[in-house]
Formats: sequence, C-alpha cells, structure tokens
Amino acid sequence: MSGKDASRQKLHIAIVGSGPSGFYAAEALLRSGRNVSIDMIERLPTPYGLVRSGVAPDHPKLKQAIAVYAGIARDENFNFLGNVTAGRDISVGELQQTHHAVLLACGAHEDRTLTIPGGGLPGNHSATEFVGWYNGHPDFRERTFDLSHEAAVVIGQGNVAADVCRILAKPFDELRDSDIAEHALEVLAESKIQEIHVVGRRGPAHAKFTAKELRELGGIADVTAHAKPEECVLNEESRLELEDRANFNAVKNLEMFGAFAKQVETRGQRRIRFRFCLSPAALVGRDRVEAISFVRNRLEGPPFSQKASATDQTETISCGLVLRSIGYRGVPLDGVPFDGLRGVVPNVAGRIVDGEKPLRGLYVTGWLKRGPTGIIGTNRADSIETVENLLADASEQEAKSGADALLPLLEARRVRWVSFAEWLKIDAAEIERGKDKGKPREKFTRIDEMLNVLE
Ligand SMILES: Cc1cc2nc3c(=O)[nH]c(=O)nc-3n(C[C@H](O)[C@H](O)[C@H](O)COP(=O)(O)OP(=O)(O)OC[C@H]3O[C@@H](n4cnc5c(N)ncnc54)[C@H](O)[C@@H]3O)c2cc1C
Repeated sequence: MSGKDASRQKLHIAIVGSGPSGFYAAEALLRSGRNVSIDMIERLPTPYGLVRSGVAPDHPKLKQAIAVYAGIARDENFNFLGNVTAGRDISVGELQQTHHAVLLACGAHEDRTLTIPGGGLPGNHSATEFVGWYNGHPDFRERTFDLSHEAAVVIGQGNVAADVCRILAKPFDELRDSDIAEHALEVLAESKIQEIHVVGRRGPAHAKFTAKELRELGGIADVTAHAKPEECVLNEESRLELEDRANFNAVKNLEMFGAFAKQVETRGQRRIRFRFCLSPAALVGRDRVEAISFVRNRLEGPPFSQKASATDQTETISCGLVLRSIGYRGVPLDGVPFDGLRGVVPNVAGRIVDGEKPLRGLYVTGWLKRGPTGIIGTNRADSIETVENLLADASEQEAKSGADALLPLLEARRVRWVSFAEWLKIDAAEIERGKDKGKPREKFTRIDEMLNVLE
C-alpha cells in the first residue's frame, strides 16, 4: 500500500485545545481500536490548559493528571501542534477540510461580567486574571495587582473563589516553594492584605465550596476564619434543602460556618470573613476602588429554587481590591454555533447542532460543551461520550490527509508551531530554572521566552 493509501485508511481527527477534555478525548480515540491519527491544536506553546494555568500552585498533587496526558502525547498516532490558534492561524472550516472530524475542547475562558456603577475603577479584577497572573499564563503576564491595601473582597463562593482567597491569605513562606510565577511571588511577598471578605449572594447553605476546600481555608496557619452568627441562621426552606442526602457537602459546609461564627478575633492575624445574602451594587472610589457597596438579599421561593431578592438594606465594605469569581463562558469561534446565554457550543451529547440539526464532522467536549462545572476527572466521561458519537458517525472511506494537508497550510502562513518534543524542552528548561529557588519549576511567562528555548 502506498503512503498516501495508508494515510487514507486512517481516521484523521483534529482536537482543538489541550486541556483535560482534549487529552481525555485523545485517550478515548486511541483506545477505540480504530486506526486514528490525532492532531491536537493548542494556542499556547505549552499544553494542559487549566491544569497548568488554573489549578492552584499550592495544590501540586492535583497536577498529577499531567503525567497521564504526557503518556497519551507519546503515542505515535498523536501529534501536538502548540502555538497555533484555531480561528486565527487556521479556521475551523479548514480543519474540516483536512480532517474527518474536528473536536473542540477549548474550555470556557471568558468571565461572566458584573455591570455595576464604578465597574471600571482600577482595583476591580476578575479571578481569571488573578489566577492567570499568579500561574504565569502569558495572557495575564502584564497585569498588575495592588496588594498594598488592608482589605480585599472576593465575590463568589465556589472553589475558584476559595483558591484566590487562599493565595491572598496564606503566609508567604507557604507559597514561596510552589510554582507561582516569580513576578507574582514578588508582589505577594509585600502584601499588606489583612482581611479578605468572601461574599455570596445567597445563604450559607448555598455556598458552592467543596467541604475540603472550605476546611483548608479554616485551617491556614496564622489566619482566622469568621462568619456572622446572624447570617448563619437558616430559613425553613434551606433547612429542608439540607435534609436531602445529596446536599451532604452543604451540611458539612454549614458545620464549618457555624464554627467560624464562634471564632474570637485574634489581633495581628489575617482574617477571612464569609458573608452571605449580599449582592454587589456599586464600586466606590475616586481614582481606584476604595469600597464596595452591597444590597442585602432575602431568600425567596420554595426549597431548591430559592432566589436572592434585594431588600432596601445596604452595606458598604472598605477595600482596595475586588476579585470577581462569578462564572465562566466559552468564546465563540467563527463558523461554529454558539449559545450566548449559556456561553457554550450547543450540542447533543457532543454532536454540535445548529438548531436541531447536527453539523457533520463537528464535535465539542469539556467546559465548552457543558459549561464550567465538575472536577478534572468529570471531563473524562464527558469526552468518552463525545468520542463514542464521533466514531459512530465517522467513515475512513472519505479521503482526508490530516497533518499532511494541515502542516503546509501552517508553514505557508509562517506559523511557528511547537511539537510535543519541543514542549518537553521548554518543560525541562522550566524545571531547571526552578531548581535554585527550590521550586518545582519557574515557568516562562512570555511566548517569545518559550520559543527562545527552542532556538
Ligand atoms: C482557577 C481554577 C482552578 C481549578 N482548580 C481545580 C482543581 O483544583 N481540581 C479540579 O479537579 N479542577 C479544577 N478546576 C477545573 C478544571 O481545570 C477544568 O475542569 C478543566 O480544566 C476543563 O477542561 P477543558 O479541557 O474543558 O478546558 P481547559 O483546561 O480550559 O483547556 C482548554 C484549552 O484550549 C485552549 N484553547 C482555547 N481556545 C483555543 C483556540 N481557539 N485554539 C487553540 N487552542 C485553544 C486553551 O489554551 C486551553 O489550553 C479549576 C478551574 C479553574 C478555572
């Protein structure tokens, strides 16, 4: 059989995005028993999506999934093309020409916005920016965060809010040997923040922290966690919600909030203050954020559908830094339907649909498919479902050339793509840079620095 015929017998799949969902999709394809060839396109020279640039640097064990992904990348039928942006360097339509199927695994990177008066004041940031900054994501390298104030407010009560609160609260000595980027460590070392208010719009029974994350916040050395006793009193509907076994996590959280409500103030220590039933109304300040005003909410509606309704009471909290962690949205790609309300690509079990109609050869997985929910492992089952449908639809009979057609296109456009072997060189250089500092790695935070390693 000639090389060309052999290539035709293969099923050429383009995966866009190299986070957990992209890698679990690759794994499912490689294990399927079909003769597949995978080209994974990633906009950064570095793989692994939010496992590298989202997961907290002081939780290194959670990054162990990377070893599994690196194993998948070593398969001879897997090809990594880093530093290539779909929608800019190559269109989704072009990938559909070169490959039997295109699987979008681009995640959900845009923040849900908070449009309130004063929103444009310096000192108001999304948690995404802060997380990207301390994790060395090139998009956020040049951001600045002013930690010279006494108080910060984190809006939102999920695990990302817990991460940013922990990074602000932890003693510097507990952070310095993590892989937090050096530029962020320098700022954190000088932090004057003593008080972190973590604010939710509903009650303590509705906080989305996993109990483990909340317990960790309560256990940070030299930090006390507080809650207001009167805000921990539940209404009847919330009590009924907690009787449901599925609400086990909320019961655990509530026990902890109850304990925080009994904490005595300790002078000189950093404080985390959990606040409930408050919605941001305006940011206040002349040239930068000096305070944030909230309206107090009342919970209304039946158990499991309680909504936060504004009352006429207000409260103002002084602060110099606001970090919003109120959800994520996917980013639309040209030629691909998008559900602007949910911030996801519309799909039925991973098959991208335009209205009711599945679009031939186009699939989606991960956060872009289901929204920003679940843990890293959730993406595995999600990708398996998408891949099952992709393989059920795909036919090797169709003539496609995969990388043989894609690479000339990229080269004609002078796209400097980065192979997996090249990423391993960047990886080794980062690890080497970290050695002297006792860090697992010192990340490169600019794309040209990464590419310089390969010269
Ligand atoms: C701050 C934070 C902390 C988290 N901590 C934990 C944790 O401790 N434990 C846990 O289990 N889960 C955690 N998660 C959740 C976990 O990271 C997600 O479940 C998972 O990363 C989602 O995988 P994904 O592949 O859908 O998206 P992502 O991981 O976001 O990967 C998407 C990839 O696509 C690339 N991409 C995007 N657009 C394009 C394009 N146009 N062209 C080419 N490439 C593109 C991106 O650069 C990225 O590499 C955390 C999430 C966040 C935000």
